Amino acid sequence: MATLDTLKRTLLQKASETEVPSNQPLSDEQYSHAFDIFLKGAGWKTYQEFIIPQLSQLLDPLFHSRLRISILEVGPGPKSVLEHLPDSQKRKITKYAAFEPNKLFASRLEEWFRCTPFPSLEHTPEISRSRFSSGDFYHRTKSSLYDEKFDVIIFCHSMYGMKDKQATIQRAVNMLVQQPGGGLVVVFHRDSLRIQGMASYRTGFFPTGLVSVADSEDTLDCFAQFITGKKTQDGTLRALWRNKCRELGACDTANPGSLLFSAPDVMVAFTRHAPTGSEYSAPAMREQKMVKNRQACVRFPAITLQPTGIAGVQHCVTSALKGGTGLTVVGGGHSGHCLWFNIRSVDMGLFNKVHVVASEDIKVGSFIVAEAGCKTVDIIRKASEAGLTVPLGARPSVGAGLWLQGGIGHLSRLHGLACDSIVGAVVVSADAGKLFSVGYVPEQYRCPEAVQLDDSDLLWAIQGAGTNFGIVTSVTFKAYPAPAYTVRSWRLPFDDLFKARAKLREFDHLIARDLPRTCSADAYLFWDEDRLHIAVTMFETSTATSCVTLIALTRAYKILGPEKSIKTTDSIGVFDAEMYMSEMHGGHGGGKTSSFKRCLFLKDIGQDETANVLIKAIETRPTPLCYLHLLQGGGAIRDVPADATAFGCRDWDFACVITGVWPRDQDGTKEAVAAVRWVYDIAEILLPLSTGAYGADLGPDPRDAALAAKAFGPNLPRLARLKQRWDPRDILAYACPLPTPPKDPRLIILVTGESGAGKDFCADVWRSLFMKDDVAACVSSISEATKRQYATETGADLSRLLEDRAYKEQHREALTAFFQTQVKKRPRLPEEHFLRLVHSAKDAEVLLITGMRDKAPVAAFSHLVPDSRLVEVRVEASEEVRSARRGADKADIKPEDKNGTLDYAPSFNLRNDGEGELLARAFFSTHLQHLVDPDLQSLTEIIRQIPDFPNTDINFRHILGVAQSRGGLKLCTALLQSHYSGDWSQILSIVCVETGGFIFASALAVNVDVPLALIREKGKLPPPVVSVAKEVSHISGASSGKKAGVIRKGGKVVVVDDVLATGNTLCAVLRLLVKVGVEMTDISVIVVAEFPLHKGRELLCREGFGKVNVQSLLAFGGF
Ligand SMILES: Cc1cc2nc3c(=O)[nH]c(=O)nc-3n(C[C@H](O)[C@H](O)[C@H](O)COP(=O)(O)OP(=O)(O)OC[C@H]3O[C@@H](n4cnc5c(N)ncnc54)[C@H](O)[C@@H]3O)c2cc1C
Repeated sequence: MATLDTLKRTLLQKASETEVPSNQPLSDEQYSHAFDIFLKGAGWKTYQEFIIPQLSQLLDPLFHSRLRISILEVGPGPKSVLEHLPDSQKRKITKYAAFEPNKLFASRLEEWFRCTPFPSLEHTPEISRSRFSSGDFYHRTKSSLYDEKFDVIIFCHSMYGMKDKQATIQRAVNMLVQQPGGGLVVVFHRDSLRIQGMASYRTGFFPTGLVSVADSEDTLDCFAQFITGKKTQDGTLRALWRNKCRELGACDTANPGSLLFSAPDVMVAFTRHAPTGSEYSAPAMREQKMVKNRQACVRFPAITLQPTGIAGVQHCVTSALKGGTGLTVVGGGHSGHCLWFNIRSVDMGLFNKVHVVASEDIKVGSFIVAEAGCKTVDIIRKASEAGLTVPLGARPSVGAGLWLQGGIGHLSRLHGLACDSIVGAVVVSADAGKLFSVGYVPEQYRCPEAVQLDDSDLLWAIQGAGTNFGIVTSVTFKAYPAPAYTVRSWRLPFDDLFKARAKLREFDHLIARDLPRTCSADAYLFWDEDRLHIAVTMFETSTATSCVTLIALTRAYKILGPEKSIKTTDSIGVFDAEMYMSEMHGGHGGGKTSSFKRCLFLKDIGQDETANVLIKAIETRPTPLCYLHLLQGGGAIRDVPADATAFGCRDWDFACVITGVWPRDQDGTKEAVAAVRWVYDIAEILLPLSTGAYGADLGPDPRDAALAAKAFGPNLPRLARLKQRWDPRDILAYACPLPTPPKDPRLIILVTGESGAGKDFCADVWRSLFMKDDVAACVSSISEATKRQYATETGADLSRLLEDRAYKEQHREALTAFFQTQVKKRPRLPEEHFLRLVHSAKDAEVLLITGMRDKAPVAAFSHLVPDSRLVEVRVEASEEVRSARRGADKADIKPEDKNGTLDYAPSFNLRNDGEGELLARAFFSTHLQHLVDPDLQSLTEIIRQIPDFPNTDINFRHILGVAQSRGGLKLCTALLQSHYSGDWSQILSIVCVETGGFIFASALAVNVDVPLALIREKGKLPPPVVSVAKEVSHISGASSGKKAGVIRKGGKVVVVDDVLATGNTLCAVLRLLVKVGVEMTDISVIVVAEFPLHKGRELLCREGFGKVNVQSLLAFGGF
């Protein structure tokens, strides 16, 4: 089955050969008939599986941020594609307009609107029966719609006939609203879309789109004319076109009598901020960059930039961040993802230097510093000149993508993967375009502007997943002495497939497994001269053949017979010794071929099930040139623990590269489409038999998703979090896909208190009570990590430290001292321990953490988990009870264990002197159960997010909007009332600050019947007032007059506000209250939403207000 683009090219070629005029436009009826073909059967799947979900997902944030949405659809056809959006989105559409030049469609569209598909429309949809056009034409067909502004403009299937696509899109972009968050122009098109210069905000790809066409004369005539956009009455040309359709189409087995064509689709979305190219300091390439990978070549990027220095790379990143667009990077250009539809690409070609830092001293070692535009051969050549080498891949022209994502080659069994030799790197970070140096980079190559980062995470991530976190400008490799290679090859033909399977098993079990790590044996399965072949190449790297090698060789001769060739060569010559270059199919290198690869990691390839799949794969190859390459693993690859580097997949015997190959002149034909499909089909069958997938070739193609889920072994969750940390705007979205990180628990309860107070006991009771309410909860002890390390270093018994109370008591003091020493060395250790616990809480909604000893932990840690609500429950008990529980004498309890020394207020206190669960259970019902109240979620959903307001990069949460939504204020007030942990009847007044506080406090005051104490800007309240200075102004509140003062000494007050962010306002309010004589312990604060990233609680503690109890209903990450 050929692609529609190949079909179009072929049909037009035929038309030009016959010289028959064919340039009239199709009639409205013909167009309508052809349009139907795309919406039926296989064609509808593109809508179902791609267009509708993509649209809905893309529009969701925009729809969520607005109360009313206006839509312009260009060429919608007989009805709007928006019909299929979820009801919640359709309800937001208040204005709809369309350009629909096909009169038949326009009438049907008007008819369709009579059934009110969008219930909130405020006007009759305006449907212009003219073409949407750019520039000059617009002046001639002026429609008033051009003067209007829209939130969303959609080209779902109308771009095909448009001549100047860029100008058309640009006009549409100019018609977008200019309010914060902007609007979107969304274009769906076949993957041949080429809109030069404009960078897309988001891109989606649907490579598996199909179109099924009935194989009848009328339908094929109509279809061929639609595809070419040319009408012809000429019978000969029509017949020629029909025949070509039959030749290029495949039989639609699901729909007999129809022909199937491949119709990959793309979505590109543009915003007003999209950069056009003129703003770059890096030189832009005028011509499309030709890269090695043929698929990448036809994914037309918006622009290719070729930075000449690091500042240029930084500029590419910062302008992508500013414009909200993405970037791809071109290294060696061998993957399909270095160029991507309407994404800007950064070509690292000018970063092409290799430096050798050689040392005779083995202890110091030698290093190779390679810039990111270097190819494998550049590095090997330069290293060889100094008698050194680096374990890279087998082909000379492959670039940085290889060593940043793994790198399997002939030296892997001896020295590990390429990424294992990376000891340092210089990186432009994707989060801010800053330059960092990580790990060891020789000083002279570090770049004076680079900040040395002592963050082992980034280096860890670069060692195997290095294309996802920034643009790497150079890496430092550990170098090894360059070996000489002896390369032996065997080639065995098979008529009997059973014998082939048996031979594969013998090769695996009797030859490969026993090889020393100085040798590696690769196998190739391919079909040649009408027979299946298994070929083997053995690469031996030692200078003198060892005894072990001799034994293995003798066995190889016995099993494989005499070798077909033997060659001794060096690090450069070994590139030519590759089997597929020299031996297979007469040498692939000689011919012009295109290929497509995916790679899975296998153990025991001789085992029946795996061997059968491998042999069957070759039997079912769609083109004669397809083959399987099995690269040997084990040795040094397996020595590295799976979690020591990001690469993760270590436990395999062979990396199986499934390689679909076809002659280059068959690109886009049914052979090429079938070869790619074959690769994915075989990968799907092998996936359950594999121990992992190689991330190097994986990208945003949806067919890669299942493979990407098996790449990186156990490291995916950590990588997902690092992606969020280092590329929060996802500008490198087109590299190997990483999952979104699992959500942190929505509620984290720190159960603190002195030993013997019953923390672990209470935490366990509460966990089971949450679980009983169907809320997934777990308990973790933060001291466990320290105990583990303590046990390793002192030889103490870990299980007894964890389980045996008496044993734990014996080690208590030593453990505390051990922890303190560790913290002295690594001051951020408590934060690291805390985050590790939170991140390992997998699917828990509530995490209870015990063993925390930090002061004011909510203030100190909440910014680390900004999307979670963090509360502290302090469990207390009398000294008698605690000493009894610890099995110690009261006199043994050290003074630091004494109660009552806290200088901050925990969220809750529990006096736990009693026996059994009674107290803990009662506490749960009063204070903890409602922290997971489903109404909190309802309140969250009411709060709109407005991106880029009031400034770019700010995702504004409209808390006051709660009062603007029906039922919002009532719900919020009820929650404020029930969540306050004190007794409303004891409250003298509710203190509030304008403006947000007034709204929520007023409604609450009505419910609880407590008077308000108003705080406003200085000068806005009549006397008597008191004032204090606030950060940039003064605020004033009611003074404590002896008579009718709203606030009095000795009275309890609750401060109610909409938001707690930096804490500046709250500090001023608290100062004001203290000034009028209110005791700090008589003040409580409750806010609707807290933004922990601003560290408001930390400021309160610093300013001496740590003893004030502060509660919040919701917590939001972001600013
Ligand atoms: C003919 C051939 C032979 C191969 N042989 C081997 C082999 O022997 N061993 C092996 O392990 N693999 C091999 N591969 C797979 C190869 O490692 C991957 O295809 C790799 O992604 C190619 O890297 P590249 O730089 O050449 O490609 P590119 O397409 O330029 O880059 C690949 C990816 O890396 C990203 N990237 C490139 N440079 C940077 C940078 N500086 N910073 C951040 N991201 C960057 C790109 O954006 C892209 O996502 C081979 C592939 C082919 C086609």
